[in-house]
Amino acid sequence: MNRRLITSALPYVNNVPHLGNLLQVLSADVFARFCRSRGYDTLYICGTDEYGTATETRALEEKKSPKELCDYYHSIHEEIYKWFDIDFDYFGRTSTPQQTEIVQSLFKDLDSRGFIKENSIQQLFCPKCERFLADRFVNGTCPHCGADDARGDQCDKCGKLLDPTELKNPRCSTCGTTPVLKETKHLYIDLPGIQKDYSPWMNKTSIDGKWSNNSIQITKSWIRDGLHERAITRDLKWGIPVPKPGYENKVFYVWFDAPIGYISITKALADKLALENNEEKLDWKAWWCPEEADDRKTASIPVDLFQFIGKDNIPFHTVIFPSTLIGSGRNWTKLHHMSSTEYLNYENGKFSKSRNIGVFGNDAIETGIPSDAWRFYIFYNRPEKSDTQFLWKDFQEKINSELIGNLGNLVNRTCTFVSRYYDGKIPEGTPDESLWSQIKEHEKKVTDLFEWAELKDAFHEIFAISSIANKAFQDGEPWKTRNTEPEKAASLIRDLCYIIKDLMIMIQPYLPQYSKKVLSFFDKQTVNKRRGYKGNENPLDWSNLGITEGLTICKKPEIVFTPLDDAKINEYRLRYGGNQNNQTEEKKTEKKQQKEAAKKEQPKPLSKEEQIALFNSKISLKVAKIISIERNPDSDKLYIEHLDDGSGTDRVIQSGLVPYLKEEELLGKHVIIADNLKPRKMRGIESRGMLLACDYKNGEKDCVEVLDCPWAAPGTQIVLEGSQNIELDKPEIEADTFFQIKIETVNNQVQVGGVSLLADGKKITTQFAENGEVS
Ligand SMILES: [Zn+2]
Ligand SMILES: [Zn+2]
Repeated sequence: MNRRLITSALPYVNNVPHLGNLLQVLSADVFARFCRSRGYDTLYICGTDEYGTATETRALEEKKSPKELCDYYHSIHEEIYKWFDIDFDYFGRTSTPQQTEIVQSLFKDLDSRGFIKENSIQQLFCPKCERFLADRFVNGTCPHCGADDARGDQCDKCGKLLDPTELKNPRCSTCGTTPVLKETKHLYIDLPGIQKDYSPWMNKTSIDGKWSNNSIQITKSWIRDGLHERAITRDLKWGIPVPKPGYENKVFYVWFDAPIGYISITKALADKLALENNEEKLDWKAWWCPEEADDRKTASIPVDLFQFIGKDNIPFHTVIFPSTLIGSGRNWTKLHHMSSTEYLNYENGKFSKSRNIGVFGNDAIETGIPSDAWRFYIFYNRPEKSDTQFLWKDFQEKINSELIGNLGNLVNRTCTFVSRYYDGKIPEGTPDESLWSQIKEHEKKVTDLFEWAELKDAFHEIFAISSIANKAFQDGEPWKTRNTEPEKAASLIRDLCYIIKDLMIMIQPYLPQYSKKVLSFFDKQTVNKRRGYKGNENPLDWSNLGITEGLTICKKPEIVFTPLDDAKINEYRLRYGGNQNNQTEEKKTEKKQQKEAAKKEQPKPLSKEEQIALFNSKISLKVAKIISIERNPDSDKLYIEHLDDGSGTDRVIQSGLVPYLKEEELLGKHVIIADNLKPRKMRGIESRGMLLACDYKNGEKDCVEVLDCPWAAPGTQIVLEGSQNIELDKPEIEADTFFQIKIETVNNQVQVGGVSLLADGKKITTQFAENGEVS
């Protein structure tokens, strides 16, 4: 069996990881646990990525040295991963002497083979901050797809890697100033020169190693345009010194050095074990550069490198890192299988530390929900083929129905039955061949899926086995047959005990604590331990699957997971849904405004003529097209709508239509908005304008019809029939002013003061709301 070298993307040190970040370290953990159980010689390496501009500026902000900042955050990462039970062989870091040594030696190899070029470039320099701007510190419009928030190194929208000078409308991300170009010298890796060796490798490995589809697509699109030279030096202090005269004030670009961290962290582990005189020795070269290893025995077994990353990291792992290794001329271990996921989002939005949205590692710990429950949901919902959402409601449902209702129920009812009716001794019996052939077929599927790190499908397959077992319990009715056909009942219960044992072996990579707990209900002395391996206290491994002997007792089970109730789930959703302080403040002002409004005397209703005059002088209604729509995660009623109002800029409004209309009923509509209302913040998000809709009744049901005019282009001004010389650019108004006029439908005609409203010369009508008030 080949050896398996496993890595997960090195988390950037100065962020507390959220569930989306944790996905990668967890995925590699599940796979590594499987490999160990299956009998592969396995090494799982990860660590914090510590160099670069973000650390340097963050350290300035926090008044620490970059080293102090990294020490502080590294320990936070370590603590969180420990809580999530991630069983690294080593969790190291990149700011080490080993990293400097290996990065510099790879650089020298590349340089000696002519793959390092020197170029003078014009680099963006912020006159206000008085510094050259590293690429992440420039924002602007993506030259490829037009996204307006692309970073200098990469566009998140289209995934293309960028050079900051390519950005349209560049801005310094610190101060917003437009940067200027200034000349400076940098070193480049000659990717075009390496491409003739890289391309055949990529073509073969991506197929042999069954790279995930998104990584093949993104890699191909990247090399299709031809590879370009890429700068590997930066004007920073916090990084690895460049061993070349004239570059004393520069360091290596963090993306040149970070992937090399996988190698240096392995060496750091080897050095640590040697220093401790640990009997477990590690020759790092046996894993990363077998031809040069001293440990010939280990090095003689081929090694397969499995890498786990998010889709934003693909080109760095499939193009730049392998090219660096290939260009060095030495036979390094290179990527075999690429497991790159899509994004895990949060409640239909993005995780955001600054806005306090989402569950971060420390939050998960604080909830008191066991780490295995988080692990369960993350893998049940792993974003493999498309983005997925962390939704509290779904989290609750899946935990309650699958983890507790399916698997937990099987364990609980079976173990309780043994302890109650068989005095805790697993009864004698004959295995049911047809049941076991079904189980074994599914077990084979689980193994096959696991071999290629199809972690979500393998997980679902395990739950399918649990369903089969539950059905066997249900159909077998052992609570009846125990008296009528005792041998049949005993055989069934015996089979179920062994199926549970198998399930716990297979689920161990995902839910290690749960597996350990459930297996502790059974005795284990009589089960043969095939081989010992590090990090797995469970003596049962993959080789025991399908074996139906060796267990004798089954203790009364303990409850591990408790169902999540609505109140708790709502509390968590609120707690992790955004900045609480702002929301309370907002509510206070809202209430205050309402009170003040109530105090004011109701103004006298305006006459029809006064309403028409007010409309013409003050009120601006416009046509706008809904181009995207989503729910406001902090509200049961509000949609957030992005509009094209003809101005060419993104416009966001909110409307309380969730109880009445579905997203697809609104998307694409040419609606009418009150255009010049003062912007208003609702549940944390600013709304610029208000969408017009009319109430009506359908039987007893309250319904709402949104006014629309599909014939009119976005930006079209709504006018009253017969009005002349209307001022088009009206100033902002308060909501009170707007509500002084009454817009209503009369026999399906939308009117103000008895006069019809027109869009592009055509009367605005309703379909359902015959007579009613528009608001
Ligand atoms: Zn600046
Ligand atoms: Zn783009």
